[in-house]
Amino acid sequence: MTVRVRLAPSPTGNLHIGTARTAVFNWLFARHQGGTFVLRVEDTDQERSRPEYTQNILDGLTWLGLTWDEGPFYQTKRMDLYQQKVQMLLDKGLAYRAYDTPEELDAMREAQKARGEAPRYDNRHRSLTPEQRAAYEAEGRSSVIRFIIDSDREVAWNDLVRGHVSWKGRDLGGDMVIARAAAGDAIGQPLYNFVVVVDDIDMAITHIIRGEDHIGNTPKQILLYEALGATIPEFGHTPLILNQAGAKLSKRDGVTSISDFQRMGYLPAAFVNYMTLLGWSPPEGMSEIFTLDEAAQRFEIERVNKAGAKFDWDKLNWLNSQYLHELPAATLVDLLIPHWQAAGFVADWNDRPWLEQLAALIGPSLTRLDEAVAMSEYLFNPTIDWTDEASAQLRQEGADVAVEAVAAAIAEYQPLTEATVQDLLKQVVKAQNLKKGLVMRSLRAALTGAMHGPDLVQSWLLLHQHGQDEARLQQALVVARSK
Ligand code: GLU
Repeated sequence: MTVRVRLAPSPTGNLHIGTARTAVFNWLFARHQGGTFVLRVEDTDQERSRPEYTQNILDGLTWLGLTWDEGPFYQTKRMDLYQQKVQMLLDKGLAYRAYDTPEELDAMREAQKARGEAPRYDNRHRSLTPEQRAAYEAEGRSSVIRFIIDSDREVAWNDLVRGHVSWKGRDLGGDMVIARAAAGDAIGQPLYNFVVVVDDIDMAITHIIRGEDHIGNTPKQILLYEALGATIPEFGHTPLILNQAGAKLSKRDGVTSISDFQRMGYLPAAFVNYMTLLGWSPPEGMSEIFTLDEAAQRFEIERVNKAGAKFDWDKLNWLNSQYLHELPAATLVDLLIPHWQAAGFVADWNDRPWLEQLAALIGPSLTRLDEAVAMSEYLFNPTIDWTDEASAQLRQEGADVAVEAVAAAIAEYQPLTEATVQDLLKQVVKAQNLKKGLVMRSLRAALTGAMHGPDLVQSWLLLHQHGQDEARLQQALVVARSK
């Protein structure tokens, strides 16, 4: 048997981390088994589906490296097939037309509620006579198509993640609507549980790996497989991603879409690594840091945890920094430029030596790419604001003397290099009879505007290459003297 799995996102929003993580597990499963990964866009909800969401989903999967082998297939282009299959179930007597009005259905549910029963369709139109049907149609009522669910059935499967799962037919809500209302003999729009099964059969899907939130759909879908005369695939329901409070991660938790994580400066390899760990435990002896291909070699769906996986920012940040710190400066620059540009910084973006020197300087301190903006602003902007701490430092006794002496000495120490800077500083300390610590702290405050940050000498050299160091020292002197 050739393994075939699929990801079936609905384009009603940007690519969500839950869907992306489902994609990771499907991708790993397919690659591990030498199988095929199919992408199907479930765009039948025409009110909520948007082409820009589809694009966001395709872009997000591509960014993460979750390449698909077949598709994307679009359900809206497959309506004829669904309608044929609905007709087939009608012809076989496995589905029927129900003419209930919304008011009648509401009244039925109210009565059930009053009796303390769970709401369900009571199958009242399952056995209408031809005369009753004709009478409803004469009234101008439209009809939905309902699929017959035998209340006495028990539906069970051996879930790849959760083990034995079983449902009672009577808990499935009564005969299920598979196509929306339409007038006369027409068949209305077929609905999710039905089209998903038709597609999974048509696309020869062998393993359905999806989020646990779909577990209640599975028994209904299994009954549809039987009715359509198809082999029932294997099912695996993966645990939900939870927030720190242990509830399902939702929009209220802030960032949940892949494009947001991308904008924040997570690396796709690190992010996909993190998502894999959200629910999957690597086998004994395997590092927690791995590529998708390495994970695919070792991926066993049995090692997916049953319990929900808590989203852990610290772990994600740690992983991202591990990946970032491995990048050569030349690669890092290409990833940082878009963040600097988005922040409105102006520079010669072709000046690779300067940019790579900067990347090498800040790279080891980065957890996320977007942090490079705040970290390097003082090197791009000709004028800066001094932090309170830095202003206080500049106003300390002797700070202005130190800054002025450094500014005056620059011309003598050309070309300015790491070595000549050290000589210059020694000379200033000696000639002005100042403490080295005071000189260094004052210079840091003067050049960078802050008391903490990247290496001082490297920062100075970068400013110097752009001819900005002397002007910066002069600006700092104004602050130092504004006591
Ligand atoms: N379209 C469904 C969703 O986005 C997924 C369907 C499935 O995996 O069966 O939740």
